[in-house]
Amino acid sequence: VQPDYDILIIGGGMVGVSLGVALGGSGLRVGVVEAIPYGDARQPSYDDRTVALTYGSKRIFAALGIWDILHQPGGMSAQVSGREWADAGVTPIKRIHISDRGHFGFTHLDSNEAGVEALGYVVENRVLGAALHARLQTVPEVTLLQPAVLKQVEFSGDHASVGIDYGGAVRKLSARLVVAADGGDSAVRVAVGIAARRVEYGQSAVVTNVTAERAHEGTAFERFTESGPIALLPMSENRCAVVWSLPPRQADDVVALPDAEFLNQLQRGFGGRLGRFIKTGVRHAYALALTRVREHVRSRLVLIGNAAHTLHPVAGQGFNLGLRDVAALAEVLVDAQRRGDDIGDMRVLRTYAEWRTRDNFAVSNFTDALVRIFSNRFGPLVVARNLGLLAVDLVPAAKRSIMLRTMGLAGRLPRLARGLPLV
Ligand SMILES: Cc1cc2nc3c(=O)[nH]c(=O)nc-3n(C[C@H](O)[C@H](O)[C@H](O)COP(=O)(O)OP(=O)(O)OC[C@H]3O[C@@H](n4cnc5c(N)ncnc54)[C@H](O)[C@@H]3O)c2cc1C
Repeated sequence: VQPDYDILIIGGGMVGVSLGVALGGSGLRVGVVEAIPYGDARQPSYDDRTVALTYGSKRIFAALGIWDILHQPGGMSAQVSGREWADAGVTPIKRIHISDRGHFGFTHLDSNEAGVEALGYVVENRVLGAALHARLQTVPEVTLLQPAVLKQVEFSGDHASVGIDYGGAVRKLSARLVVAADGGDSAVRVAVGIAARRVEYGQSAVVTNVTAERAHEGTAFERFTESGPIALLPMSENRCAVVWSLPPRQADDVVALPDAEFLNQLQRGFGGRLGRFIKTGVRHAYALALTRVREHVRSRLVLIGNAAHTLHPVAGQGFNLGLRDVAALAEVLVDAQRRGDDIGDMRVLRTYAEWRTRDNFAVSNFTDALVRIFSNRFGPLVVARNLGLLAVDLVPAAKRSIMLRTMGLAGRLPRLARGLPLV
């Protein structure tokens, strides 16, 4: 018997919906199971955060027809926020300025040096959600099942059976392949017993946006302080998106501060590079951990996005890594389908896993090292890290390698990341 779907994607967050779009036109019948629909205030993926997209992610979104929707001035961003005036939903990062509070070293990366129009792009998660869903609606072979919660998953020789609670009624669906895109606490991962190694950073990220006296002019700031890194990313309406990592209790206190006091404290940590901070948005705190899984694939199962890895947001790499999972997996599945191979077979899925291992490992190590080096207070390390920052500024090769990683262009790139169509 023919299964209900070729592929069931569990989780319609930023990664799951991107995969749905990427599989459009492949001839594969796809279902996306999402617990909390886009637009619901409790939706955890499309919330008040912003995401810094690498140049590589831009190329993937461009190849998927999402970039055009996202980049219309006044388009998605106006729809989401109710803003009337034309304001593009995407802010280019022209420069990245990295510094260490109280020490002399700093470095900067510049888009002109890299010969690209931008080092990355800042997009509000909600704006990205609107664009992803607008694009998904144009893909007839993908069905969005929501609100639907995964309850159970089992595998037999040639198919997987998935039990969902679909608007209060229990339904059983079958598929040739299940893709877990259900986030850091993946229910699929738990149901099948794939162990995740979780290392708590003992930090939470306070997320908000602020307006400063001076224009950001497309500069992203990464500042390492004793209590943790502060990132300020340029966003629309001359606001800066703030990701401030702090010990959890301090983070809760900072979230609860009156606005004026919050701005004072942020100013003390960040310094005066943008002049005085004058206005802040709502604040939320997110606990930070490094999560790694040993198995990314099993017969008829793949884990992608946060279900497969969570990172510290210091280098803004988590979603970008997940989007490269999407581009690589879509390519492997479309090619297998074209050859007439079984898309749930381990031979096919192993190709995907082997391809992604190195990037996964490199990005999570790079991010983890960044957090650990900069959170160490010992004298020699402080000196070494300042020399390190200066060295990066002076040695083009080292800088180039950081730049390629930051831009999402290191390693073997999927066709979508090279701007080529899949189908
Ligand atoms: C403070 C912070 C800042 C960040 N900044 C950046 C950045 O600048 N750049 C970057 O690249 N990354 C960034 N990230 C990382 C990025 O947010 C994640 O990588 C991204 O959200 C992962 O998307 P996902 O779709 O895999 O998972 P999620 O966003 O967690 O989505 C999972 C989806 O699955 C659904 N779901 C869960 N369980 C079930 C179930 N049982 N049944 C059905 N559906 C289910 C959920 O409702 C949700 O929609 C940041 C993260 C944090 C915490």
